[in-house]
Amino acid sequence: MDARTVVVVGGGISGLAAAHALVSGVNPPRVVLLESSPRLGGKLAGDVLEGVPVDLGAESVLARRPEGVELIRAVGLGDDLVHPATTSAGLWVGDRIRAIPPTVMGVPVDPAATVDVLGEEAAARVAEEKTLPEPALTEDVAIGRYVAERMGPAVTNKLIDPLLGGVYAGRADEISLAAAVPELYAKLKTAPSLLAATAELRVTSQRRASDGKPVFAGIRGGVNRLIQALETDLSSRGVEIRRSTTVRKISRTPAGYFLETGPVPAPDTVFADAVVVATPASPAARMLAGLVPTASTELGAIDYASMAIVTLAVRKSDWPEAAAGSGFLVPSDEGRTIKAATYSHAKWEWSSEAGGELAVLRCSVGRLGEEYVLQRSDEDLAALATADLRKAVGLDAPVVGSLVTRWGGGLPQYAVGHLDRVDRVEKAVAEHDGLAVCGAAYRGVGIAACVASGSRAATRVRAHLDALATMGS
Ligand SMILES: Cc1cc2nc3c(=O)[nH]c(=O)nc-3n(C[C@H](O)[C@H](O)[C@H](O)COP(=O)(O)OP(=O)(O)OC[C@H]3O[C@@H](n4cnc5c(N)ncnc54)[C@H](O)[C@@H]3O)c2cc1C
Repeated sequence: MDARTVVVVGGGISGLAAAHALVSGVNPPRVVLLESSPRLGGKLAGDVLEGVPVDLGAESVLARRPEGVELIRAVGLGDDLVHPATTSAGLWVGDRIRAIPPTVMGVPVDPAATVDVLGEEAAARVAEEKTLPEPALTEDVAIGRYVAERMGPAVTNKLIDPLLGGVYAGRADEISLAAAVPELYAKLKTAPSLLAATAELRVTSQRRASDGKPVFAGIRGGVNRLIQALETDLSSRGVEIRRSTTVRKISRTPAGYFLETGPVPAPDTVFADAVVVATPASPAARMLAGLVPTASTELGAIDYASMAIVTLAVRKSDWPEAAAGSGFLVPSDEGRTIKAATYSHAKWEWSSEAGGELAVLRCSVGRLGEEYVLQRSDEDLAALATADLRKAVGLDAPVVGSLVTRWGGGLPQYAVGHLDRVDRVEKAVAEHDGLAVCGAAYRGVGIAACVASGSRAATRVRAHLDALATMGS
């Protein structure tokens, strides 16, 4: 084993993926992973509700891009890879759950198909978009505001808000089009209209779908199992994992880096030849403040949304017929507490099997700017979610068990210009040989994007170690 040491800061999926990539090559360095909490996994976590294993945070992995699924296989969970039995979600608008018309992240493809959700008048406005001057986008815009101007506010409120909300828990009016829907942004530079752009992208996605490959994947028993499998794999390869170790400051030494950990009155230091910072933006900003002030300031400006997941167990015999498909999304302006409901037992066969007589479902509550909702007690949140389910699908039966998981600062918000900001951060960080950043704050919040980000950071750091080895030889 190489004598060089790489310290990875943060034991969420990004940091664990970085550590995995670092020790997977030939002649791996010594890797030490420092995680501030007593638990690894960050936004991947699991528990057991009434005997049924449940994911408390992330519950599925994008399978259209390879990185997440490849890592699942690499750590020995390939046999437990599964795909959703159904992914057809509805939209709770007005008095019932409606079908989501074809869209590209909420931006309609076919005006006629939006009538049920938007109403005749708003759907007619969507159709008129074709007659507007060409988009000819030259710079990033807020997706919700931009689409509202061209297609009317109803599209943003009833379609983009719930669909984007499901990924970012943010406001469509603030989220960057370039970062959230890059392929649509690219098309709008030359497409004659927004409708023409979404129609083209829809054809591409239908062509892709015709290969029969599933878009999403999961792991039997829950995607959080990936964390335990990674820990076992990394430990067997000699990675040293230190929990309850918060990094407060990273500084440069002539030979590498010093990381300050431990309580302020009794700091401890860890030396590293190279460092991967894989924490959310605010702790990364704090630890890099002295070393890379430009990156620190940029990172400090990234906002985060907080939310809670309310997981409920009910008897299958009480399951209402109206609750079909994998669940439903709820536009913010409908005035409900829940923002989405996922019927885990319908989506994942393993969940239904494990549940026996019980069906498990999860509701998400809270979004950017709605932190006050999360101040309510667990009992209140479970009661509010249950009341919404009663109104939405007629679930009118006692809940057998519930779990409320709060995710303070759960999801980074990609504001307009986010990708330029990330370029500036990466450029400033790259001026320090052997330093790299990765995680959900940068180029994608999903698990697959985080794994990719961790691998990229590992590649950068490995290149530095290789250069050191060449100089030393
Ligand atoms: C409720 C919820 C549901 C989601 N559902 C999905 C889904 O179904 N599919 C999907 O693909 N994505 C989903 N996501 C998004 C995805 O789970 C996250 O974006 C991703 O897991 C983030 O991984 P990360 O490693 O970048 O960050 P984190 O998971 O935040 O990990 C960062 C780690 O760094 C540690 N840390 C922080 N500060 C320090 C410090 N100073 N020193 C040392 N360690 C530190 C933290 O304790 C944490 O363990 C969901 C997110 C949430 C919140």
